[in-house]
Amino acid sequence: MSELYKYDPSNEAKNFRIPGLQHKYRETVLLFVAENCHSICDWCFRKRLFEGESLENDVVVDPQQALKYLQNETEVRSVLMSGGDALLAESDLLDKLLNGMGTIEHLHDVRIGSRAIVHDPARYGKKIPAYYAKKLYIVAHIVRPEEISHNLADVVKSFPHYTFYIQTPLLKGVNDDPNLLSEIWYKASEAGMQPYYVFQCRPTHGNQRYSLSLREGHEVFSGAQSLSTGVVKPCRYVMSTGSGKWEILGIDQGDIVLRCHQGVNPLMVGSLRRTDPDDVWWDLPDSDPIHRRMIDQRQKVSGE
Ligand code: SF4
Repeated sequence: MSELYKYDPSNEAKNFRIPGLQHKYRETVLLFVAENCHSICDWCFRKRLFEGESLENDVVVDPQQALKYLQNETEVRSVLMSGGDALLAESDLLDKLLNGMGTIEHLHDVRIGSRAIVHDPARYGKKIPAYYAKKLYIVAHIVRPEEISHNLADVVKSFPHYTFYIQTPLLKGVNDDPNLLSEIWYKASEAGMQPYYVFQCRPTHGNQRYSLSLREGHEVFSGAQSLSTGVVKPCRYVMSTGSGKWEILGIDQGDIVLRCHQGVNPLMVGSLRRTDPDDVWWDLPDSDPIHRRMIDQRQKVSGE
């Protein structure tokens, strides 16, 4: 069990194309723009950044190189800026990237992922650009209802032209309670933010104490859904694995049923898989026929 817990459980290392830029899904690029956070979450899924285990390519060093990559990859529609915390990026780097991406025609949207905006809304709200040429989404990392403060709601209200989402890792002893999760969704909705994803806690080194089994997580998530109206619960309960983002749909005939929401291999999207409800994590085995085809194609392209 403990061998499941690693510094890079989703195998992010293999998705870096240039320093600070991961291209895992055809339409989406992930830019790492900061190595720091306002404060360090004990359940962090990228502890490697703070515990001396950083990957060589972890942060963007040359914004022009990143923009050139995005310009050339015409199938990319969305860029997620993360880290660390995207709002802790150097202002110069953030400006250069945002300005450059604003002129790339094939990009549809940019997402800024931040927990700092929850910790100190007034301070980090100032780093959000007043206007943006593309659709801009702010994705706030929230784990408890009391984190949704009046100050955060004020920041949300001051940017009526952007969409604010929340995402929540499901954590044993922190928020594994249907009432509490439902309260997060209601409070977020009142503050003008839309629940987006609830994440299964990644088996990152040191996170064992926060892990719930898929059965336990499903019980909390579906319990929270049963307490919530349709408008406040449009989010999905997902696992971000090496092969893709898998939605945890429910239990059928003793198995957890998973649906591929976003796949490294786009052909996987919509396909269903099953696993043991007592597992805390799951990923598609390399031997799976669809996955195998993609690995073979990649090896052919790279000449391995
Ligand atoms: S905000 Fe995100 S990256 Fe930063 S410590 Fe928390 S989980 Fe890790």
